[in-house]
Amino acid sequence: MPRKSKKQCEAGKELQYNTIKVRLYPTPDQAELFEKTFGCCRYIWNQMLADQQRFYLETGAHFIPTPAKYKNSAPFLKEVDNQALIQEHNRLAQAFRVFFKNPETFRHPKFKRKKDDKDSFTACNHDFESGPTIYTTRDGIRMTKAGVVKARFSRRPQAWWKLKRITVEKTRSGKYYCCILYECEVKAPEAVVPTPETTAGLKYSMPHFYVADNGAMADPPHWLKQSQEKLSKLQQRLSRMQPGSRNYQEAVQRYRVLHEHIANQRKDFIHKESRRITNAWDAVCIRADALDEIADRVAYGNVLEAGYGMFRECLRYKLARQGKQLLLVSRYEPTTRTCSECGFVEESVSYRKRTWTCPKCGARHSREVNAAKNIKAQGLAQYFRSRGLRESA
Ligand SMILES: [Zn+2]
Repeated sequence: MPRKSKKQCEAGKELQYNTIKVRLYPTPDQAELFEKTFGCCRYIWNQMLADQQRFYLETGAHFIPTPAKYKNSAPFLKEVDNQALIQEHNRLAQAFRVFFKNPETFRHPKFKRKKDDKDSFTACNHDFESGPTIYTTRDGIRMTKAGVVKARFSRRPQAWWKLKRITVEKTRSGKYYCCILYECEVKAPEAVVPTPETTAGLKYSMPHFYVADNGAMADPPHWLKQSQEKLSKLQQRLSRMQPGSRNYQEAVQRYRVLHEHIANQRKDFIHKESRRITNAWDAVCIRADALDEIADRVAYGNVLEAGYGMFRECLRYKLARQGKQLLLVSRYEPTTRTCSECGFVEESVSYRKRTWTCPKCGARHSREVNAAKNIKAQGLAQYFRSRGLRESA
């Protein structure tokens, strides 16, 4: 995911971040080193967190020791890339920064357990006179301790992109991936001023993923649903099996592979959908749903629910790269109950009914299309208000 940067660029240019994800094929020795690095990262995180807590109890001051402190008592830390350990320190410090700033929203950093936390480590690239510490080769990635790790690239970076850092991770099914983050200076896009004709309003919708104000919908591909059904069948079978048996182990592995497959299908769908919308419209209005509401939906178990936050984020940065805007409408606006024709607010519109009729003007509405129309109108009104402009058209 691209991040914001405070770094200054030349006039008319801005920094963009691109990530390329590649599959890694480490040798047994390299895989062993990765395994060690994952373990050391968890270890150092937990040590630093424990010391922070002790120090805080004793003195009331916040302090996190650096990884160097632990190397004498735990010499195995010297075997792995020091950069990965430094990253853990930076991450812990960052986790505390956001926690102290906003303790209601962010949790206190937790201890890491192999069982719950993803196997991963991150290392930054450093440019020395002798060359960079991390770089890509024709069919691999050169890393500090592991040497050249074989990799399969689905796409290649541009020659002028700067490699900033890599994150190596191992999935539950045992595959290795590497996310390579690049910094690129690009020409800043010219701001696009939206009009009602070139703006779309989107309403989140359970069966269709979204419904647009012009009645268009995204229908999630049927294979996504099929995969989901397969997954729940496997889950049921697992619950009836004897844990520890060979059959059980095999079923667990199948479950993990399918789970990853679905996550990839979903990601693919979201990227394509957000790309299509971004290219078709100058601005997109959407409701700013609270994160806890989205989490509730995830718990509800729909395969696409989890993707809606990601969809919004994809839309935001894809639009931004073309100088376009994602306009967020307050979730407290009664977008579903307001008549998009006359503005009348109906007190109760059943969530089960697909259509309703406005008692004031008699307009007949599809519940979701009407909401999408209101979201669009609100988003545009906000946009023009914030710029002190009068709405055109
Ligand atoms: Zn009406």
